[in-house]
Amino acid sequence: MMQAPISSSLSALIFDVDGTLAETEEMHRHAFNAAFRAAGLDWHWTSGLYRELLTTTGGKERIRAYIRDHAGGPAPSNERITLLHADKTRRYGDMMARGNIALRAGIADLITQARAAGLRLALATTTSRSNVDALILATLRQRAAHVFDVIAAGDEVARKKPAPDVYNLALERLGLPPDRTLALEDSRNGLLSAHRAGIACIVSPGPYTAGQDFSPARAVVDTFADLRLSD
Ligand SMILES: [Mg+2]
Repeated sequence: MMQAPISSSLSALIFDVDGTLAETEEMHRHAFNAAFRAAGLDWHWTSGLYRELLTTTGGKERIRAYIRDHAGGPAPSNERITLLHADKTRRYGDMMARGNIALRAGIADLITQARAAGLRLALATTTSRSNVDALILATLRQRAAHVFDVIAAGDEVARKKPAPDVYNLALERLGLPPDRTLALEDSRNGLLSAHRAGIACIVSPGPYTAGQDFSPARAVVDTFADLRLSD
């Protein structure tokens, strides 16, 4: 069991969403493929391909990266990509609402511990606010805004992770300097985003991120259940 390296000056935990709160990447992948089929495209993202595509953060950006590197042919218009991505997001929300998702081990307990310790809770994610709301409702059966004091989502910032923008936005909304917060992430892009915002970060990789370089992390743990907040 690892004690989280927190000091009495720690005031908030900032969680990534996809891959950190829950292993959502397979559901995202299935939703992308369903949207492609519905649009009459013969694109199909296998889990092996998706592992590579995940290095591009943001859904629309990921579709563009796929077109550039794999699909070939004329590039669809920005409007078509936006519609395609909106359809994927709707399908993802429907899949989520059917409830086939659980929080990762240790996450519910960390939230409880943090609350008991008087810490504030925030989310800093490259996913959209609607995806966040769907996930929190499906897992914690509560509105995201009731569980988290601050939510900074990918559709609110110009540059997605690994840029620090979304963490800076979370800090601004928390009204805290970076050294009063601790980030929890599952990927190198997320870790770099937190690190560039000056926030210490604990990483627990998942199936799509295992083996990445986590060198700037404060600590790397197999599971968030290995983490205990203590004074
Ligand atoms: Mg993640």
